[in-house]
Amino acid sequence: MKIICIGRNYVKHAQELNHDVPAEPVFFMKPDSALCLDNKPFFLPDFSKEIHHEIELVIKINRLGKNIEAKFAPRYYDEIGLGIDFTARDLQRQLIEKGLPWEKAKAFDSSAVLGKFISKEELGDLGHILFSLKRNGETVQSGDSQLMIFPFDTIIEHVSKYVTLKIGDLIYTGTPAGVGPVAIDDRLEGFIGEKKMFDIQVK
Ligand code: ZN
Repeated sequence: MKIICIGRNYVKHAQELNHDVPAEPVFFMKPDSALCLDNKPFFLPDFSKEIHHEIELVIKINRLGKNIEAKFAPRYYDEIGLGIDFTARDLQRQLIEKGLPWEKAKAFDSSAVLGKFISKEELGDLGHILFSLKRNGETVQSGDSQLMIFPFDTIIEHVSKYVTLKIGDLIYTGTPAGVGPVAIDDRLEGFIGEKKMFDIQVK
């Protein structure tokens, strides 16, 4: 399986990092070794002094597809989950300055936290999914799928033009504003609505 991540999909987040709002979805990938599952702790890597949390809704692909039109995209996922796209912001800044690829800052081990999934039926209106991240009990990021620049189906259409989607692939759909650093002993809890989707410790 592979992990596809969308960058700059919320206007306020693009602005907080001084990036332009993109005209089409920006995507990058993480390897399967980046997954951090089952509420396992996240160990801060020694190569970065600035690991940021990015809370994101996650699409789980349920069938093989290429060149999927947006209107057919809903057939390619049954569930939406929640995760963190951990980012070594200091490294990412250096890479962006040099015009280099982002993998070192984005694809490292355990950088893709993945919590539970909720069926589309249970979620109801996918255009208005509220989600949030608490750091040590305090809400640091809250998002609403309504504020995505590119909604789920547009993302699937765009990505599948370039990359065949397979069963079990994950698409992290971008983070709202409020990204910030994590530190040892932090507790990070992710929620969709009132439902807790993951609960991890930073070590
Ligand atoms: Zn992200």
